[in-house]
Amino acid sequence: MQQINISEIFYSIQGESTYAGFPCVFIRLSGCNLRCNYCDADYTWEVNDTLSIDAVLEKINQYPTDLVEVTGGEPLFQDNCPALLSALLSHGKRVLLETNGSLSIGKLPQEVTPILDVKCPDSGSSDSFNSENIHHIRHRLEKKSASCELKFVLSSKNDYLWAVQFIRRHQLSMLLPILFSPVRDRVSPQSLAQWIMDDGLPVRLQLQLHSIIWPGFSRGV
Ligand code: SF4
Repeated sequence: MQQINISEIFYSIQGESTYAGFPCVFIRLSGCNLRCNYCDADYTWEVNDTLSIDAVLEKINQYPTDLVEVTGGEPLFQDNCPALLSALLSHGKRVLLETNGSLSIGKLPQEVTPILDVKCPDSGSSDSFNSENIHHIRHRLEKKSASCELKFVLSSKNDYLWAVQFIRRHQLSMLLPILFSPVRDRVSPQSLAQWIMDDGLPVRLQLQLHSIIWPGFSRGV
């Protein structure tokens, strides 16, 4: 029976992505290959629990939604993550995968929506993006049924300018939803809003909805 290392499983409101606002079950896997300096999920770096994929399915089936996000840590750091994704799909779930973009998304089932969190220079994990993923994104989007989103978490104006260059270099803005999020206490939402407006950039400013609804809660929301 295939096993997966789990940090936590919880039911909440999706706080990010174009799915923000929907009720969603989160499966947070343990382990990460990066060490971002703003990480608010460093507790995932250690394994909390190991469950069979069947046991994970049993847990999430208790919740009254078919929307599931697999996140981390870095979920693709575990070899059994694709098997978990396939099992979720075969049980009729709509599946989002939040990944830091450093590992290949080439073997993910087409029905999964990957949300790639491209690490910017001031994250402390710069140059981690797997450039092959640009090809995989384009390949996925050629299939009408497939979707994909890109996210940039910004610590500074320098990060913002880097993200703009990344999008322009790869000609991504018309292909898929692009989300810009400010790191709390480093970039104000007002500043980021102004930069985006000044440049007329076709990206969505994204604030973490769960942090607004449940301020002060760092886990389970
Ligand atoms: S990739 Fe995510 S979980 Fe890993 S260190 Fe960076 S912010 Fe934390």
